[in-house]
Amino acid sequence: MDQGDLTMNNKLDKYKQYVTDKLKHINRLLPKYATGDFSELVPIPESEDEFTKLYTGINQMVEDVQEDNKEKEVNIAELKQVHSQLRDSEKQIKALLNTTSDMAMLIEKDGTVITTNNAMAKAFGQTPDEIINENIFKLMPPDLSKQRKEQSEEAAKLGKVVHFVDQRADHWLDNSLYPIFDAKGKLEQYAIFSHDITELKQTEKALRLSEEKYRTLFQNMNEGFAYHQIVTDKKGKPADFIYLEVNKKFEEITGLKNKMVLNKCATKVIPGIKKAKPDIISLYGEVAQTGKEKSFEIYNEPIEKWLMVRIFSPKKGYFGTMIEDITERKKVEEEMQKLAAVVKHSNELVNLCTLDGKMTFLNEFGGKMLGIEPHEVENVNIMEVIPDNLRGLVEKELLPTMMKEGAWEGDLQYRNMRSGKLTDVHAMTFTIKNPDTGEPQFMANVSLDITERKNTDRELQTLLKKLKEEKNISDSVIESLPGVFYMFNQKGKFVNWNKNFETITEYSKDEVLKSSPLEYFTSETKKKIAAKILTVFTKGEATVEGELLTKSGKRIPHYFTGKRVKINKQYFLLGVGLDISDKKEAEEKLREAMEELKRSNKELEEFAYVASHDLQEPLRMVSSYTQLLEKRYGNKLDKDAKEFIQFAVDGSNRMQGLIQDLLRYSRVTSKGGDFKKVSTNYALGKAITNLRDKIQQSQAVVHNDELPTVMADEMQLMRVFQNLIGNGIKFAGNQSPQINISAEEKNGEWLFSVKDNGIGIEAEYKERIFVIFQRLHGREKYPGTGIGLSICKRIIERHKGKIWVESKPGQGANFYFTLPRIK
Ligand code: ADP
Repeated sequence: MDQGDLTMNNKLDKYKQYVTDKLKHINRLLPKYATGDFSELVPIPESEDEFTKLYTGINQMVEDVQEDNKEKEVNIAELKQVHSQLRDSEKQIKALLNTTSDMAMLIEKDGTVITTNNAMAKAFGQTPDEIINENIFKLMPPDLSKQRKEQSEEAAKLGKVVHFVDQRADHWLDNSLYPIFDAKGKLEQYAIFSHDITELKQTEKALRLSEEKYRTLFQNMNEGFAYHQIVTDKKGKPADFIYLEVNKKFEEITGLKNKMVLNKCATKVIPGIKKAKPDIISLYGEVAQTGKEKSFEIYNEPIEKWLMVRIFSPKKGYFGTMIEDITERKKVEEEMQKLAAVVKHSNELVNLCTLDGKMTFLNEFGGKMLGIEPHEVENVNIMEVIPDNLRGLVEKELLPTMMKEGAWEGDLQYRNMRSGKLTDVHAMTFTIKNPDTGEPQFMANVSLDITERKNTDRELQTLLKKLKEEKNISDSVIESLPGVFYMFNQKGKFVNWNKNFETITEYSKDEVLKSSPLEYFTSETKKKIAAKILTVFTKGEATVEGELLTKSGKRIPHYFTGKRVKINKQYFLLGVGLDISDKKEAEEKLREAMEELKRSNKELEEFAYVASHDLQEPLRMVSSYTQLLEKRYGNKLDKDAKEFIQFAVDGSNRMQGLIQDLLRYSRVTSKGGDFKKVSTNYALGKAITNLRDKIQQSQAVVHNDELPTVMADEMQLMRVFQNLIGNGIKFAGNQSPQINISAEEKNGEWLFSVKDNGIGIEAEYKERIFVIFQRLHGREKYPGTGIGLSICKRIIERHKGKIWVESKPGQGANFYFTLPRIK
């Protein structure tokens, strides 16, 4: 073998080895691939030979197969999922279908049963499994089958459900047939549902049967019934309603007859309905629209009835009204309300309780009286408010009488449970019977507060007692009166008198009874007494003096006081007479004494006048002859004789002065002038003129206020001023005299004052200075006779006034006098 051959051989061997190796590879892998295991690829040689191509081809193929397998796997998984979903939904549908009592079935368009529930299978007398894949039309009688085929075709044509009802034996079925189309609108299947409506059909029948019954009932109902349809406006607002039906009672209550109202609008039937209050149309409309029931009570003016109206709506837009005439009930209710109000506001206690006393009702007034709050009423037993001392009365008298006779009436007392205060009441208690059994069930009690009456009773009692006491007192007063007491009526009949009356008049009781008042007077006084009796009866009272004439003829002066009194609508004269014999006697004596005084005064005056007048003449003689004696024989007489003559002359002069004074004094009354209206200013002015010289000499200052006009004797008034001012100047002492004259009104009189600044007067001489010829000083120091003030006093007293002095020594004197005011 040559190299070539060797090389050749080597080459061949190598190739053989190579091929064998490659084939080994393929041999190892092919059986794997044959089992479908493409997980391993052929290792691809690096050369480009046939094997490489083969290997690449195999690998390509393996890779394709791998790819394809992967895809398949995914599809298988999806398929599995769809399968299981399908299985689930099928289960669900089956379960669902089997839960309903309705029958359900799904069929192919040719009638092959795809699925069905138990109920449907049962209708064919089979189980679902038995009829699945069967043709449903073949399971039916031929005519029904034909009908069903037609119906399913119709559903398919219309493209929507078809309903039909069929009756099998005594069953009624309501069927629905749904055509099912695929996405392209091609008919695929039918779904059939059947619902058993046997019961409904039976009810319908029953309903039809009973409708007649209901109609009769409706017509004979005790309530008025009407059925209406609401009419709305454009906006859907209720505007009217139409009567669809009314029953007899409705006609009866409202007077709206079926014929008149049926299918008519309410606004036509009742023209004023739109204005009605409440707004009935809206109200009814609301019910018809919302279906919410409403009821109300209303007074229907035109028919004068109270109605209870119930509105309901069985169907939208429709409503029924049930009306009930409750006029009677309302009346009773009103009465009850009134009664309740009366009880509530009554000023009497009103109370109800059970037979064992447990309170069930107590009105407000009662609550206040007994101190019980409304919520406490039911916890109280009536016996708790009865005071202990009255329990006996309640138990032994009230309750037995009430139970036996049905009622008890009498006075009681209640104790306030809070304050303990007792209230007097007049109670009326009675039983309330059970209407069914007629047995007493409750006690009612109406009590009137009589505290006031009781108080009045008590007051009256005390008053009567007091009156009795007072009568005793007045009787004894009357009896112990010093005078006569009597009482007679307008006819003069004596009704009462005291013992004194009988004693003094000397008439007996019987005689007084028969007598008349005027019989007790003398004929001269009868008229006067009769007039006074009349005055008492007309004016109420009078007094009179008169002589009482006794039975034996004695006349006893009496002072009578009569008063009119009214007793029981009758007038009486109640009088008292006092014996005034003593007073009369005294009066008589006084009168006599006065007369005596007057007479003696007059005599005295006359005497004084005559005396003074007549005394002047001889005195003048004594004086002139004594002067003549001195003239003629003066030189022949010695010193003593001359002095004696001088004394005699002085004495007679003084005597002449005194006599003239006395004459002046007596002339104040005997020769006084008339009283006229006199200006005091004027009289004072005259007095000052008369005193002019004295005033100038003494440099006196006389001042006066404005003085009044009085009724007086002008001359005398002037004299009073002249005397008083004169004295003021005379008794001025060492001072230059200042005299002030004034007047004021006091106690209805004029009070004049003449005031000086002179020496004044000791208190003890204040009265004496007004007595005639009384003086306090020697003639040498202050000349005068002591007549001035006594004349003033006499003048002032003649003018019905008074005169006095107020003074202290050394502090001047103030002379006051009064004069009456002009009326
Ligand atoms: P007559 O002035 O003549 O003495 P009257 O009767 O006037 O008399 O007065 C009596 C007496 O009263 C006087 O004497 C005098 O003592 C006293 N008297 C009167 N007026 C005054 C007076 N104004 N002041 C003081 N004494 C007076």
